[in-house]
Amino acid sequence: MAEDPRDWNLETKLVRGGLMRTEYGEISEALFLTQSFAYDSAAAADARFAGEAPGFIYQRFGNPTTQMFEDRLALLEGAELCRATSSGMSAVHVALTGLLRAGDHLVAGRALFGSCRWIISEWLPRFGVEVTYVDATDLEAWKNAVRPNTRCFLVESPANPLLEVTAIGAVAEIARAAGARLVVDNVFATPVFQKPLALGADIVVYSATKHIDGQGRVLGGAILGSEALMLEAYKDILRHTGPALSPFNAWVLLKGLETLDLRVRRQSDNAAVVADAVAAHAKVRKTVYCGRPDHPQAAIIANQMSGGGNVLAFDLGSREAAWRFLDALQIVDISNNLGDAKSMATHPCTTTHRSMPAEEREAIGLTEGWVRMSVGLESAVDLQRDVERALDAA
Ligand SMILES: *Cc1c(COP(=O)(O)O)cnc(C)c1O
Repeated sequence: MAEDPRDWNLETKLVRGGLMRTEYGEISEALFLTQSFAYDSAAAADARFAGEAPGFIYQRFGNPTTQMFEDRLALLEGAELCRATSSGMSAVHVALTGLLRAGDHLVAGRALFGSCRWIISEWLPRFGVEVTYVDATDLEAWKNAVRPNTRCFLVESPANPLLEVTAIGAVAEIARAAGARLVVDNVFATPVFQKPLALGADIVVYSATKHIDGQGRVLGGAILGSEALMLEAYKDILRHTGPALSPFNAWVLLKGLETLDLRVRRQSDNAAVVADAVAAHAKVRKTVYCGRPDHPQAAIIANQMSGGGNVLAFDLGSREAAWRFLDALQIVDISNNLGDAKSMATHPCTTTHRSMPAEEREAIGLTEGWVRMSVGLESAVDLQRDVERALDAA
């Protein structure tokens, strides 16, 4: 009997999922840099446009290389359908606007990636969508935020930059009872360590720019969910508004997926070493890392994540100390990206979260002393030495 790829283990899915070979039998996935496709006859074009015959039409609708990436990611997420997008932000934008219309209400966790906050605070209200932010760790707050017109919940867990964790299953139940769809931004956990659909989410979004590329090259994004919801909510908006992923970027991301499990596990092991060293240092007031038992939501993490991930955050008490730390690093780069093979650290208050109003920063506990670090693939010994020396200098 033929193997069903859905029965494969994660590592096999990452290397072989979605593979479509041409007549040449190439081992590495083919890169189809083509905008359009030729039809054998006028009748064949008619059938394809009518959706009665399979096949590609135009790169904005689909492309074989992009489809290999989509099918591979869907397989490892356990989703019926994946659609790739040009960036993580186009994925979040489409994921929300495909579910919402004027007069609808969205509830979102208040600790979010900066551009996601802009979409919710500035963009959606222009189109008549009402929004409420809640403390995503407070289940009563989610319940109390529900209105008759609530259609969508958005959760980022772990959240940027202080790694707040939301009980995805419990929030999914509240969403279901309210008749709303739960969208989860799963970037920080990666598909290796957390499966939001299995926990009850309706839609998962990724910035593939982060761990899925993992080597700092291209932007990409993805939206995943059941076939029925993906087609109903997103098929037309993806075709007609044009956030398509470039096939070249899809090819880079396919190669990224092959090593995702190896990279993310090693990065997470390295992050655990760095987090322990940071937490033990006298200059550090507070350390947050999902792999440490002192994480405020450690019990929830144990239920829904199978690894700590590669991001940690720590409070050095003041902006001056945080900047002295960053400026003293010799191996780790000062950069706002994350998930890369190269370790990087950033000062969220003056970079990624500078547009967040001060009182909202205060509400999530993001004060001037916090540093966020994305741990890479360098030697853990070298990283620990670099970080400890920089902490001494802070
Ligand atoms: C980076 C990031 C995004 C946006 O992704 P881009 O690929 O940069 O557009 C969205 N959500 C989270 C959690 C992110 O880290």
